[in-house]
Amino acid sequence: MDPGLTSIYRAGALTLDAYRYGRVCFAGNAAHTLPIFGVRGLNSGFDDADNLAWKLAYVVAGHAPAALLDTYSDERLHAFHLNAEGARRSTEFMSPPSRGFDLFREAALSLAQEHRAICQPDQSAPDRRLSPTPTRRFRALAQSSRRARNPARR
Ligand SMILES: Cc1cc2nc3c(=O)[nH]c(=O)nc-3n(C[C@H](O)[C@H](O)[C@H](O)COP(=O)(O)OP(=O)(O)OC[C@H]3O[C@@H](n4cnc5c(N)ncnc54)[C@H](O)[C@@H]3O)c2cc1C
Repeated sequence: MDPGLTSIYRAGALTLDAYRYGRVCFAGNAAHTLPIFGVRGLNSGFDDADNLAWKLAYVVAGHAPAALLDTYSDERLHAFHLNAEGARRSTEFMSPPSRGFDLFREAALSLAQEHRAICQPDQSAPDRRLSPTPTRRFRALAQSSRRARNPARR
């Protein structure tokens, strides 16, 4: 079979320094790229949207200050670094850079049949598990600001 077009893939992780610049917020691959071996590229784009959507809605509706949007940038940059570290480890596994990594991979694969957890990658959003504080703090802030405006709706 003639594949028609081939090229060399180089795994790399890149990110903007911040995901909010005034009224412009970046998400998904426009904000960051990850090696495909970490299987977090699209997943982290969804997580960006999940993090940003409700904050934008709150700010636009006047329930929270615009500074809430900075927590989007901080939290998702934090998630990028965790994802990039995971993707680096996955890349070393998929494409061993030395004989040592190769031996490690062979050992892990030989155990995978017996220990199923080895081959169950976690694709969930790390920012919610590891840095929930700013989000919770601003949700509470937005809630109390809404109550102050609408005391009847407690
Ligand atoms: C081989 C491969 C395997 C992958 N496997 C996984 C996986 O298993 N799990 C995972 O989570 N991720 C995976 N990814 C990564 C994932 O595909 C990307 O992270 C994801 O598609 C990025 O989505 P996005 O919407 O941010 O950007 P994109 O998908 O790049 O979408 C941007 C869109 O904007 C359009 N566009 C660009 N410029 C303009 C313009 N000026 N005007 C109008 N439109 C424009 C583009 O045409 C494109 O449609 C993989 C990627 C590759 C290449």
